[in-house]
Amino acid sequence: MDTVVERISHSDSDEQIYERASKILRSGGLVAFPTETVYGLGADALDKDASAKIYAAKGRPSDNPLIVHIADKKALYELSSDVNEWALKAAEVFWPGPLTMILKKKDIVPDSITGGLPTVAVRMPSHPVAARLIKKSGVYIAAPSANISGKPSPTKAEHVIHDMNGRIDMIIADDTVDIGVESTIIDLSGSVPVILRPGYITWQQLADVFGEVEVDPAVTGSVADGIVPKAPGMKYKHYSPDAKVVIVMGETGRVADKINELTAQRHEEGASVGVMAVSENVGMYNADMVVDMGSRCDEAEAAKKLFSALRSFDDKRIEYVYSESFPTDNVGQAVMNRLIKAAGHTIIKV
Ligand code: AMP
Ligand code: MG
Repeated sequence: MDTVVERISHSDSDEQIYERASKILRSGGLVAFPTETVYGLGADALDKDASAKIYAAKGRPSDNPLIVHIADKKALYELSSDVNEWALKAAEVFWPGPLTMILKKKDIVPDSITGGLPTVAVRMPSHPVAARLIKKSGVYIAAPSANISGKPSPTKAEHVIHDMNGRIDMIIADDTVDIGVESTIIDLSGSVPVILRPGYITWQQLADVFGEVEVDPAVTGSVADGIVPKAPGMKYKHYSPDAKVVIVMGETGRVADKINELTAQRHEEGASVGVMAVSENVGMYNADMVVDMGSRCDEAEAAKKLFSALRSFDDKRIEYVYSESFPTDNVGQAVMNRLIKAAGHTIIKV
């Protein structure tokens, strides 16, 4: 299949792009588009055949449900049979924005996009391109991240082109994805709100609104320890570049010593090594490639750079990546959640 790549110019000529993309979506095709979190790979959520194409294009396991993107809060009532007080409050405070809520689904939502679950994941994105595309197309857009399953999520058009060229109908390019990690997912279908995936919206922000908020044990634990995540997608290998990723945690000097020691060992074996470090420390390393993740106190910058950094090691055919750990304030929690998954929970504490 030929994939059309159209770049948003933020002028009147963009209207043609939205028209073309809308036509594709309405006729059951696939369009990748930017959101404020990462790029999404969209199809008409209520068209079973269209959403099946998302799973095929990504190589995504069929039990891993999709998030339905809407442009108007009223759509909640069409998708969910139980729009409770929590949902209304969350929509009022956090939408449009990077929060996905899990609610009881209506029959109109096909089982194929919920992995057979009785619930549906809904989000109203704030990104102007995403919002305009949903409005213009007139459909609800089911969209997971626009990467091959298991790979780091795409935050730039080049990442989407790398993974999806030839597999989907169209890519809307606009590198204004500014958060860099996926939405926070909160399950509002049970007796207490539960965070299933950390993101830009923090536990504290949610606790301020809901009072009591729990965190699914799978957010910090490992599937290897027998924990079954409530968000089915969290059980799969995720965010992994081809390189083997290892996190080294501890006091700065000791971390640098350990990473340099491991680098020397790998070099002796003839392997290539990459390092992810905060700006203050990049000069400490002797690796083949050192990626600057931004200042130690800037967790938003680390979020923005994370997936791009992981992908950049593959471009340079790096075989081992050693990463410092990053601060877990605010969106930093989501950064470390993704990094730990990318490392398959391989952490060395020094
Ligand atoms: P992605 O958009 O690629 O980040 O994937 C969507 C995430 O939302 C996956 O981790 C899914 O498991 C999760 N998700 C979607 N629908 C549901 C649902 N009904 N219940 C729990 N998790 C869900
Ligand atoms: Mg994903």
